[in-house]
Amino acid sequence: MTSAHNLNDLVDLSRTLGEPWRRFAILAEGNTSQRVAEDQLAVKATGRSLRHASAEHFVVASLRRLSDIVDDPKAGDADVARYFDEIETEQGMRPSVEALLHVVCVVDAGAATVAHTHPESVNALLCSDRADVLAGPPIFPDQVVVIGRRALLIPYSDPGVELARGVRARLAEHARRWGMPRVIYLGNHGMVALGSSAGQVLQLTEMADKVSRVLAATLSFGNVVPMTDESAERIDTRDDEQVRRAALAGARLRAPTENDVRSLRS
Ligand SMILES: [Zn+2]
Repeated sequence: MTSAHNLNDLVDLSRTLGEPWRRFAILAEGNTSQRVAEDQLAVKATGRSLRHASAEHFVVASLRRLSDIVDDPKAGDADVARYFDEIETEQGMRPSVEALLHVVCVVDAGAATVAHTHPESVNALLCSDRADVLAGPPIFPDQVVVIGRRALLIPYSDPGVELARGVRARLAEHARRWGMPRVIYLGNHGMVALGSSAGQVLQLTEMADKVSRVLAATLSFGNVVPMTDESAERIDTRDDEQVRRAALAGARLRAPTENDVRSLRS
């Protein structure tokens, strides 16, 4: 229904995240979104799979209306359901229940593209009593380059308004100490990647998956020996890593098409 917006990158991202070999999401798990105007968020409709995503599987919701519901202590799931009914009447589908989580990531953290997935590797740690290592000091330099010095870990809470409120409160707290996180881990649930582009969101999810796999192996050998704060800060701020980070941020999600090449030449 959102044919007025160019959702190509969002659709490519969704399908890539849903590729079965990645084990990031199965069935209708996970959801993606992109800010398409000042007050508009295109977000995956509930019940649709990432793997088979197409532009028709996204609905547009008002960032302001959903953000207001998160802020209003008297508002709850019934208010969300009423607004989702409106969207369903107008657009034929309901947004994912996790749309509120996306709204907070866009409004509070300034993300342009967001992906929430349930990677097997990440969830293995998030369902253990060692989930804290995901939000601890980084373990290797490329983790710092892509994810930054600290990710945010939120204990499990009910998906919907309650989770969005918890994320909003903790984002502000985290930002004061570490700046806005690029990855949020949700205890016993999954992860969220907050990016300025679809390409960055894919890299964040891939790196979180790698970090989790390395941590699983590390914990089978013994204790985690993280980088020191000084080493992590050095990687985070040195010039050549900034250049690499900028190059990564500009990386495309897919190989350029004939059209892209033509527009570059003209
Ligand atoms: Zn989820």
